[in-house]
Amino acid sequence: MYLENLSLKDFRNFSKLEVNFDPYVNVFIGANAQGKTNLLEAVYFLALTRSHRTSSDKELINFEAKSATLQGLVHKSQVEVDLKMRLTPKGKLAWVNRLQQKKLSRYVGQMNAILFSPEDLSLVKGGPAIRRRFMNLEFSQINPEYLYFSNQYQQVLQQKNNYLKQLASHKVYDQVFLDVLSEQLAGIAAEIIYRRFKYVAALNTYAQDAHSNISNGQEDLQVQYHPSISGLSSDDSVEEIYQQVIANFKKNKISEIRTGLTLSGPHRDDLIFTINGKNAREFASQGQQRTIALSLKLAEIQLVHQLTSEYPILLLDDVMSELDYKRQTSLLSYIYGKTQTFITTTDLEGISWEKIKSPKIFHLE
Ligand code: ATP
Ligand code: MG
Repeated sequence: MYLENLSLKDFRNFSKLEVNFDPYVNVFIGANAQGKTNLLEAVYFLALTRSHRTSSDKELINFEAKSATLQGLVHKSQVEVDLKMRLTPKGKLAWVNRLQQKKLSRYVGQMNAILFSPEDLSLVKGGPAIRRRFMNLEFSQINPEYLYFSNQYQQVLQQKNNYLKQLASHKVYDQVFLDVLSEQLAGIAAEIIYRRFKYVAALNTYAQDAHSNISNGQEDLQVQYHPSISGLSSDDSVEEIYQQVIANFKKNKISEIRTGLTLSGPHRDDLIFTINGKNAREFASQGQQRTIALSLKLAEIQLVHQLTSEYPILLLDDVMSELDYKRQTSLLSYIYGKTQTFITTTDLEGISWEKIKSPKIFHLE
């Protein structure tokens, strides 16, 4: 798939922008703070209805404006899709082919985008919240149900935690309502956990392959899903997972009332990366972290392709100059001629341009 054009109104520092893209490679060159990342963020937002760098949509609206609009035309192998998003301080609205979508889960997935930026290095060494966010963003775009369940989960989790806090402070006493909320939450949790097992396993296969290529077969990367509830297995059905989650909630009930928090579930899960059996979070060098992050991105491209038969759009923010020649070549040979790619850079040096035929170059100022 590729994005043919993009119009922005009052998105970040772009009060107005209309631009046509190359179906293969687009390069944005500019000094710092000119809007290169903002432009990639706009493409990402149009695909996922979320920013990769903030969870507060308000930040995306131009300082001087009250609302922002993004629109773009996406070409897929069979169809063309017109996507439009509008951001207001009250919330966001989405249109597919000019039809407004009440549920964002009906919108996401029309266009797939994978973003790779230097911050992705923190996937390996950063806290578990970063890896959960990674799972949520990536799996949402390949499975609309995942997005639906993950939004539902947040809502019910909030409700349950609020109720736990009321119980903890003796504002309420009715534990039956707590049980109802726990059952509801366990039902949604099971759907999420089931999908995480499935998608992480697929991601692992591709990531392992990519990583082995980049490291000349010297290193074996494993990506494993680590649910916060122990005893779950990738062979379990949704129902079996549900039974275990609910049992776990029951076991934790007293501590949950005491702390006013839901102590286990998808919001406490993690991913574990190992290289040759050693935990990468503890042992990986800078270069190894970079290779893991890159392998994960390449794996995502393959996963999206496997599940949708389309290659996603690839957004490379400031990463080309961070990768050595070998890694750049691996990346470019993976994507060459398959995906539409957007590359940002402050200067053209340090990028192996001979791998990229006739890119469309934009100067941002
Ligand atoms: P770098 O090379 O440093 O990464 P960049 O070109 O990627 O720079 P951006 O991150 O895209 O720069 O940001 C460009 C500018 O947009 C920044 O100066 C920032 O202050 C500004 N900006 C961010 N949000 C808004 C907003 N809501 N309204 C107006 N301007 C904004
Ligand atoms: Mg930037």
